[in-house]
Amino acid sequence: MIPAEIIKLKRNGFELSEKVIQEFIKGYVEDSIADYQMSALLMAIYFQGMTKKETFALTSAMLHTGLVIDLSDISGMKIDKHSTGGVGDKTSIVIGPIVAAAGVKVPMISGRGLGHTGGTLDKLESIPGFNTQLSLSEFKKLVNEHGVCFIGQTKEICPADKKMYSLRDVTGTVECIPLICASIMSKKLAEGIDGLVLDVKVGQGAFMKNKNEAQKLAQGLIEIAKLGGKSVTALLTDMNQPLGYAVGNALEVKECLEVLDNKGPDDLRELCLELSAHMILLGKKAKNISQAKKIAEELLVSGRAKKVFVDIVKAQGGRFTLPTADKTQTLNSLKNGVVKKLDAGKVGLASLTLGAGRKRSEDTIDMAAGIILHKKIGDKVKKGEPLATLHYSNKLPTTSLNESLNYLKDAYEFSLQKSSPPRLIIKVMTTQGSKK
Ligand code: URA
Repeated sequence: MIPAEIIKLKRNGFELSEKVIQEFIKGYVEDSIADYQMSALLMAIYFQGMTKKETFALTSAMLHTGLVIDLSDISGMKIDKHSTGGVGDKTSIVIGPIVAAAGVKVPMISGRGLGHTGGTLDKLESIPGFNTQLSLSEFKKLVNEHGVCFIGQTKEICPADKKMYSLRDVTGTVECIPLICASIMSKKLAEGIDGLVLDVKVGQGAFMKNKNEAQKLAQGLIEIAKLGGKSVTALLTDMNQPLGYAVGNALEVKECLEVLDNKGPDDLRELCLELSAHMILLGKKAKNISQAKKIAEELLVSGRAKKVFVDIVKAQGGRFTLPTADKTQTLNSLKNGVVKKLDAGKVGLASLTLGAGRKRSEDTIDMAAGIILHKKIGDKVKKGEPLATLHYSNKLPTTSLNESLNYLKDAYEFSLQKSSPPRLIIKVMTTQGSKK
């Protein structure tokens, strides 16, 4: 079929066949279909949606534009975790070692930051020398030896997603459930894993701003995983305020090390333990979730998880001499009160503006830049007390520093009444049903 006819079918609300979807995706990757035609189809999908059947066909067409990794020479259950993207969301760095210490293999293939949200790969690359571009055979060897290894998406995995995501980013078609499902699951199905734990973020700093939408996304992801023959658990977790206190690459790695030392912020620790427990359960190293939680906690408290992290960082060439910023500046409160709101999206933009993220894909990141929050939702604050500290380079233009300060000021809202932090773990959904 000619591309314009396919676009018109979707525009008019018809279901596309598997064959037609395959044809379109293949044509796009091979450059016989132009960016403007793909943009039109993406927008038609954005408005008309896709059925379960179409979404699975899209996922599988995207998956088969690249390599499907064979991890059968790694013994044991292979379980990964994927987050839909948040601010201060650094859990992979803590979870990988906990779950590996429990005897489950964690082949972690992570992405870079998208928009205001950070990426695990960028955070890990703030560790001097840490190599995320390993060959597949080296990756498998390290997963076998250490139980976990962290690499980046390679060119061979899902080239369709790379091309389509860049286009979605500039055509207003990112926030679309079938497109997000196909984008995430095509990459995850290519990894050759047995199971997956999904952290679906909900709130101001997430793609999904409310619980209803997040639940629909989680359901869509679960359905595709099921059709792809993978076990999956999805957690809906809060992203109205950043996770932990640190936002920015090296600052976040430092905070992860604190959690691995059995310290660190309570919310980050709680989420890391919860996600780890679900991975341990999927990896069949526990009979039920409460046993899995005990295992995860013991591995954290005993320092066994920390040892796994230190070993894998060394094996991937990293040295624990994290970069620090040239300058810091504190934002002080202008009021007395209680923090009522701390908009994660705005904190993400404040950090990005300091150089911790990319405005364009070709931008380089300042690994030391970012923000340390001192007050979060529910905290009392007095006039003149520090709310947050900005870390930045002495090369940062003053206009960017001021822009960042403005985002941060806007992110905070105060009240004179008591206010409670939002519930961190909102819902747990599995292939069998949901809880909470
Ligand atoms: N993360 C992805 O990998 N793809 C999306 O579309 C959204 C978040």
